[in-house]
Amino acid sequence: MKDIYVTKSFLPPLRKYQKYLDNIWEGGQMTNQGPLLESLEDRLLDYLGVKNINVVANGTIALQLALSALEIDTGEIITTPFSYVATTSAILWERCTPIFVDINPDNFCIDANKIEGAITKNTKAILAVHVFGFPCNIEKIEEIAKKHKLKVIYDAAHAFGVKYKGKSLLSYGDISTCSFHATKLFNTIEGGCIVAKDNGISKKLDLIKRFGHNDDNHVYLGINAKLSEFQAAMGLCNLDYIDKIIESRKKIANTYDQLLVDIIKKIKIPNEVEYNYAYYPIVLKDEYETLGLIKKLKEKGIYPRRYFHPSLNTLPYLNHHQSCPISEDISSRILCLPMFYGLGIEDSRKICKVINKYLLSVNI
Ligand SMILES: *Cc1c(COP(=O)(O)O)cnc(C)c1O
Repeated sequence: MKDIYVTKSFLPPLRKYQKYLDNIWEGGQMTNQGPLLESLEDRLLDYLGVKNINVVANGTIALQLALSALEIDTGEIITTPFSYVATTSAILWERCTPIFVDINPDNFCIDANKIEGAITKNTKAILAVHVFGFPCNIEKIEEIAKKHKLKVIYDAAHAFGVKYKGKSLLSYGDISTCSFHATKLFNTIEGGCIVAKDNGISKKLDLIKRFGHNDDNHVYLGINAKLSEFQAAMGLCNLDYIDKIIESRKKIANTYDQLLVDIIKKIKIPNEVEYNYAYYPIVLKDEYETLGLIKKLKEKGIYPRRYFHPSLNTLPYLNHHQSCPISEDISSRILCLPMFYGLGIEDSRKICKVINKYLLSVNI
């Protein structure tokens, strides 16, 4: 059997991509907010049902541009320790200080009830993550932000296609960002986007992602965060398949739900959420059991991922240690199982078999 990795990038039929390449060769424009990128932005507005969108080079620069557009260039940002490193590194790169608030072990998102205790006179914003596409406690976060006059940014890198209360999860907060990296649910090879609530902020983002100028009129300090036409073409192709991709992931998730033994803590999809099946996390008893399972799966050519590990409050280049026991505990014993378009039901059954056999052998 072929090795099975945690994910596999979706590639559209080559002939479809070739058609867009023909367009590029005819028009001669390879980048600089070209016609394919314009068309991708229009189609994403429509698909996501959001008011504004700025497609950019990746999901990390999307976070940095979000901070910059909201003029958060100093001070403390309340954030989660349970995420991909880019959530924290974007804060540090913008010369702000991450203040970690521990997570809710049920949905892996920042524990909104602990946010107020971390607010000081230097707090500027809350940067929360909809981990694995499960929504944060949006209502509570909004209430706290209003009361303390803080900006809210959601790293919604996992939330493409998720709906919460009938609206795209990307439409919440002052700004939501997403990643279109090759390993994500929807990909433009590299890429990402920013959804801003305020039209003025969205217009500003249009400029700062392209060096901050309009012809010879230099308005803002900007950077180069442009997406090329080649990447936009990949996005246009892949968007045609997104519903099929989500549908096939749902089937895999259902197989895992049905076949995995109950000693594993499985995640329930919350009410009012239309989920995208971006990830399938399982939480084991302890790190020892987790490492044992990884070893067993590896012997069968199956490679889950310790996602997220380590807890970001333990990054070696942080100035001072902040303790987040729940995040540290969960990250020591969580795995994401293989989940991608093209993973056969037979393969997912086999993965369940290996996991069940191991867990039953160590839990007698
Ligand atoms: C992937 C990811 C990012 C970074 O996105 P890139 O497009 O790879 O820069 C940021 N945050 C989270 C939670 C992610 O999973």
